[in-house]
Amino acid sequence: MADCLFCRIIAREIPATIVYEDERVIAFNDINPQASTHVLVVPKQHIETLNDLSPAHDAIVGEVVRRAAAIAKERGVSAGGFRTVFNTNRDAGQTVFHIHLHLIGGRSLAWPPG
Ligand code: 5GP
Ligand code: ZN
Repeated sequence: MADCLFCRIIAREIPATIVYEDERVIAFNDINPQASTHVLVVPKQHIETLNDLSPAHDAIVGEVVRRAAAIAKERGVSAGGFRTVFNTNRDAGQTVFHIHLHLIGGRSLAWPPG
């Protein structure tokens, strides 16, 4: 997807601070971090929203979630706790239409979210 920001990061057309990468998943620091750890865990496959998921995506979604937990452990925020969020469409404030799991940790987080 030539006009997708995260596809362009995956293609190295736009720089990012990449903290993890394999054949299927990439993770990089959010440009506007909301906590000391704010990593976006992204499937390399372009999927616009969670509304577009099918059973064929179950494995990649599982990989993204497990990778977020692994990065949280590396960052030392597993025991204290962390938040993982997929925003979907307007009411949730989705701005990049390539699914991504926000991994946010390193401080106490309020609940419910705004
Ligand atoms: P959304 O609002 O779609 O759930 O999350 C999009 C996230 O992407 C936001 O937290 C925003 O700060 C981040 N973001 C937007 N543009 C860039 C960019 O060019 N580089 C990086 N690393 N993050 C970005
Ligand atoms: Zn994309």
